[in-house]
Amino acid sequence: MALPLPTSLSPSKVASFKDCALAFRFSNIDRLPEAPSAAATKGTLVHRALELLFCEPAPGRTLDAALACLERARTEMATDPELVGLGLDAAAEAAFAADAEVLVRKYFALEDPRTVHPIGMELLMEARVGSLTLRGIIDRLDLDADGGLVVTDYKTGRVPGVAHEQSRLGGVHFYAFLCERVLGRRPSRVQLLYLSQPVAIVAEPSAQSVRGLEQRTTAIWEAVERACAEEDFRPRPSELCNWCSFRDYCPAFGGDPARARELVGAG
Ligand code: SF4
Repeated sequence: MALPLPTSLSPSKVASFKDCALAFRFSNIDRLPEAPSAAATKGTLVHRALELLFCEPAPGRTLDAALACLERARTEMATDPELVGLGLDAAAEAAFAADAEVLVRKYFALEDPRTVHPIGMELLMEARVGSLTLRGIIDRLDLDADGGLVVTDYKTGRVPGVAHEQSRLGGVHFYAFLCERVLGRRPSRVQLLYLSQPVAIVAEPSAQSVRGLEQRTTAIWEAVERACAEEDFRPRPSELCNWCSFRDYCPAFGGDPARARELVGAG
């Protein structure tokens, strides 16, 4: 019996399928719960702090204001299951907050928020490509000095190495494609702001790069459809296994995928 298809693809789902088809299946088709991750939760917190910062009038977007926004974001998240689920003790929580503060401070090395002209934040965009829905959330959409659209995506994890250059740029083209489809205009610039380094990866999308994204995403969708039809999602061990919530059920580590349903009760 064929497995049900996921309802949409996002940049992270595309990356997840390419990284390991079995983990993609557990997460996106079986919808098994995953253990909360401190890195992902820190990312949520920092994204929220920067979103709050850009709600301030331009002259008020100072470092002090950003740190106050971080405090506010922490208060908002205090009872959030994502944060509570980490089970941090006082010392770990202090380290978590300090790490988040470092990321906010480093953001200021990448741009001066007082000079940015945002026109939208946390924008959910969807576009159809054949039978597939592509979906992504744009952290921030700005206008540049010439009235062009600029897409900004904050990254709180590590900068991918050269070996993953294609996948990091894949995200750029994905956002450019969504903008073109939804707003009718290709952005003049897409920037990925890696706060931990800090480093900005900036690209100027072209008609060709957006078309290439459409072709590559269609090919991945066909591979997902094939895997669902044949119920064939294979493990692909890599360093990512160290953080995988499904390792105990992964045949690459002697586990039984059929037992993974246990996680539904545990989550
Ligand atoms: S442990 Fe590794 S190979 Fe197995 S499902 Fe997770 S990511 Fe894939």
